[in-house]
Amino acid sequence: MAQNSSCRKRPNILITGTPGTGKTTTAAALAEVMELRHINVGDFANEENLTNGWDDTFDSYYINEDLVCDALENLMEEGGNIVDHHACDFFPECCFDRVVVLQTDSSVLYDRFTKRLFDCPRGYSDHKLASNTECQIFQVLLEEVKENYPDDIVIILRSDSLEDIAKNVETLTSWISNWSPVV
Ligand code: ADP
Ligand code: MN
Repeated sequence: MAQNSSCRKRPNILITGTPGTGKTTTAAALAEVMELRHINVGDFANEENLTNGWDDTFDSYYINEDLVCDALENLMEEGGNIVDHHACDFFPECCFDRVVVLQTDSSVLYDRFTKRLFDCPRGYSDHKLASNTECQIFQVLLEEVKENYPDDIVIILRSDSLEDIAKNVETLTSWISNWSPVV
């Protein structure tokens, strides 16, 4: 999916982080305010049948990452996308003008999991609960982002409260408004 950021008229932003840190809430709010396209990668893969079967341990579909990248190629080239996903290593670096890593205090996140704030019919399995909590504690997503994207496009934002979400949307709104294509 090679492309030159100068072709884009509006920026592409990746919002990533451990499940539960508020990616979808933030991405949806930002997309609405700025009239950008919100791409929830998990939903997109399910809708387009770009999956590789069901993962029992995590109660979710395996995403076929190559097919998802191919399917998103034209939209990414066009620009103006808020991409919302808990992994980032399969998108080419040139896809994004900004990579946002949301971080939530581990105990706040644990409460979100146990209060079943998620659209998960059976609630979270113990395995998923432990794995996602560890994922935040060990900063797995932040490490993945650092390995895959240049420092100057990465921004880490705290997402412990609803005030944080409002503040983050404001920060990103202002960044998008000031963005101009590279010439
Ligand atoms: P993600 O997409 O990262 O898995 P969601 O945006 O779906 O996370 O949020 C999961 C749940 O946690 C939702 O019920 C949401 O309202 C709540 N939540 C997410 N971020 C925050 C936050 N910063 N403050 C309070 N509640 C939050
Ligand atoms: Mn989500």
